[in-house]
Amino acid sequence: MKSKTDVVIIGGGVTGCSLAYMLAKKGIDVVVAEKNYLSSGATGACGAGIRQQWSTKENTELAIKSIKIFESLSTKLGQDIELRQGGYLIAVHDAKEMRQAEKNVNMQRSLGLKVDILDSDEINDVVPVLDVKGMAAVGATFCPTDGHANPFKTTFAYANAARKKGAEIYTHTKVTDIKTINKKISAVKTGKGIIKTNTVVNAAGVWSKKIAEMVDIKLPNVPFRKEILATERLKPMFEAMVISFKDGIYFSQQEEGHIVGGIPIPREKKGYKTMPTFSFIQHMSKTLTRYVPQLKHINMLRHWTGFYDVTPDARPILGEIKELKGFIQCNGFSGHGFMLSPIVSQILSDFITDGKTSKILESLNVNRFKGKKIDHEMYVVG
Ligand SMILES: Cc1cc2nc3c(=O)[nH]c(=O)nc-3n(C[C@H](O)[C@H](O)[C@H](O)COP(=O)(O)OP(=O)(O)OC[C@H]3O[C@@H](n4cnc5c(N)ncnc54)[C@H](O)[C@@H]3O)c2cc1C
Repeated sequence: MKSKTDVVIIGGGVTGCSLAYMLAKKGIDVVVAEKNYLSSGATGACGAGIRQQWSTKENTELAIKSIKIFESLSTKLGQDIELRQGGYLIAVHDAKEMRQAEKNVNMQRSLGLKVDILDSDEINDVVPVLDVKGMAAVGATFCPTDGHANPFKTTFAYANAARKKGAEIYTHTKVTDIKTINKKISAVKTGKGIIKTNTVVNAAGVWSKKIAEMVDIKLPNVPFRKEILATERLKPMFEAMVISFKDGIYFSQQEEGHIVGGIPIPREKKGYKTMPTFSFIQHMSKTLTRYVPQLKHINMLRHWTGFYDVTPDARPILGEIKELKGFIQCNGFSGHGFMLSPIVSQILSDFITDGKTSKILESLNVNRFKGKKIDHEMYVVG
């Protein structure tokens, strides 16, 4: 293991690996320390949906820029990340939701996004298998360039490309402490040795709060268990990701034919809980078959859990902690860290290499929670 480096990234999920690639590409000496294997956190558990339809301007802008990067990522990294752009159909269930959807679509269009508002009788033109009455939809919005990719392949493609550019990635290497001198980062202690550095990136997902505690910084992030399932392989039925914020459900069909989707269980409480629940299977099956009745007699293949790292406004925490030079946050992604990883790693690598800041970086600093009114992202699955 190296004893000295420019930057230590804690966490080998999609954000840690994409940032390692961006930094190594710019000639920065970078190390990733991952306590398990790459993508063993939320990344390996996720639905890997990529959507640009958000309620806040910031998330929309970030997602639009991310998709642009995703579109050429397989070529750039030299490995297929299995990006498929079948669009996202967001169900709208009542007049109040429709007013919010129209407001969002106007904002999204002002940023150049192509997104349509559909009447209830147009929903089946996009996803023919949906039971529009059963799902109680009065309409929907649809963006054809939204999609999804393979989270494992994306993470490993970033990691392999980063290694080729000189990054060192240490798996099964837990960070146990962070050392500081005069309010500046000085070293990172791991289970395999100490690495001297002046810059640490906290990309430890739902464990970022614990990493920050090592230097007496309090992050407002809260862990929430999220459950997700995959069905047996079925013949191709639809291409879009379907999502409803009212019902909390999202699902898509993978290229191999599996339906993959999730829903929050009623009355889920915060905490580091990993056990899958039967309640999820019941709730998901009932809701999914209400949306797509022809899925009633199929088999579930697998069901697993992961964490959302949720912030008070459901937007990520990015950038340097003002009180501790060299301690950079890259966490709090709530339910959308996979899709934002390409643009977030670009923004943070610009900051780390050139000190380049931006309006978005400033507005996503953790300081936003200090007493000011916050702009909550509404388009999240609860
Ligand atoms: C069920 C589910 C569905 C989701 N669906 C989507 C979706 O459709 N689209 C989307 O964009 N996002 C989705 N998300 C969210 C997305 O998975 C996360 O936001 C994203 O993967 C975060 O990536 P990350 O690299 O920041 O964190 P993680 O992938 O959690 O990586 C953090 C890593 O840090 C490591 N670590 C922690 N502590 C230490 C330590 N002390 N030392 C060393 N390493 C440490 C962990 O082992 C872990 O591998 C979903 C999440 C879940 C759970």
